Amino acid sequence: MTAKLHPETTFVHAARGGLAHSPAIDLSTTYRIDDLETGRESLAAQAEGGEPVGTPIYARLHNPTVRRFEEALASAEGAEDAVAYSSGMAAITALLLAAKQRGDHIVAVRPLYGGTDHLLASGLLGLRTTFTDAADVAGAIEPTTSLVFLETPGNPTLSLVDIAEVVAQASLHDVPVAVDNTFATPVLQRPLDLGATYVVHSATKFIGGHGDALGGVIATDKSAAKSLRQIRIATGAVMHPIGGYMLHRGLQTLPLRIKAAQRNAQKLANLLQSHPEIEQVFYPSMGQDAMLCARQMKGPGAVLAFEVKGGMSAAADVMRKVKVITPAVSLGSVDTLIQHPAGLTHQIVTDDAKEAGKITAGLLRLSVGIEDPDDLWKDLKQALGVSQSKHSDAAVSWPVMWTPKSQDRLTLS
Ligand SMILES: *Cc1c(COP(=O)(O)O)cnc(C)c1O
Repeated sequence: MTAKLHPETTFVHAARGGLAHSPAIDLSTTYRIDDLETGRESLAAQAEGGEPVGTPIYARLHNPTVRRFEEALASAEGAEDAVAYSSGMAAITALLLAAKQRGDHIVAVRPLYGGTDHLLASGLLGLRTTFTDAADVAGAIEPTTSLVFLETPGNPTLSLVDIAEVVAQASLHDVPVAVDNTFATPVLQRPLDLGATYVVHSATKFIGGHGDALGGVIATDKSAAKSLRQIRIATGAVMHPIGGYMLHRGLQTLPLRIKAAQRNAQKLANLLQSHPEIEQVFYPSMGQDAMLCARQMKGPGAVLAFEVKGGMSAAADVMRKVKVITPAVSLGSVDTLIQHPAGLTHQIVTDDAKEAGKITAGLLRLSVGIEDPDDLWKDLKQALGVSQSKHSDAAVSWPVMWTPKSQDRLTLS
């Protein structure tokens, strides 16, 4: 793709050269090796993290359908290369294992996705992690620090980190920076343009966009991609070719979906802010991060969070009462989801991290979809209700698909 094309065009055509609508899905787990010399050469190239020569050999080493998705994602992020994995956490694990080859210490900026926070805090991969604020990254770097990891917008309160500013601190010590770009997507934010070395995605979210494929991907330079590919071959966390096909297809409509969902999120964020049952709304273009949002992102995105008055029981009530909106974890799909971070996605993080990340008992996170915004607002309004009817379940008629459950499943750990 040439740099002159607009993103909407690039996203539709990336890695589709020579094709009409749809690339073939290659499901084979192995490939003919008609010439042993070629086979040996291909295996040797792939063992070094390179591309196959002549024959792909075996599906844990290379799959042509997944490769197309990688090329498309690399082009969307403005990267030289990309490497795809079976899930976002598999991608983050590979990134950390690659870092471990350079040094055993990680600097991580909180707040982070619950799974990432847990993986780092548990020490499972044999790495030591210093959790810090964006302002203190330089101070947290040690002689064996091999990676600075951050997420912006952060999960679940959408707080922003100034990527260029963290890169400036890390580059004083020659430490590469990885940015989890799951919430913003390359439509709204391109961390490599701001000096980051790695961009990580849970492609399960906005990139797929329809909630039907798990995947993770890292966009980076050619040499870093090689070691990430070697780790994928060694550990086996490959993306399934059907997933690769679906995520590649998802990229085509990503700009369109982000625009529609973001428009809805902006409306809902404004309406929620003046609702009497709401304590606080968290959205990148509102509050203390508004300036940074305008500078770093092309828009505030489609995820917001809000704190309801009345804490845990009030939040549980909202989750129980929504009808159009689905009470479920995950995000980035065409349908709107609501979830309770303290009880669900961030249950696993420590109480200290919950407090520092403002993950309170009344906090709900809303991943806004592309439905009609009036329908979404009506649904939220009835779910928020008025104080006196809040605890009378009898007044609510339940949709067939959602059976109310006892509140204690949301108990804070
Ligand atoms: C979901 C998510 C992940 C983990 O991705 P999986 O595909 O579920 O493994 C990592 N980071 C962020 C920001 C996420 O939202």
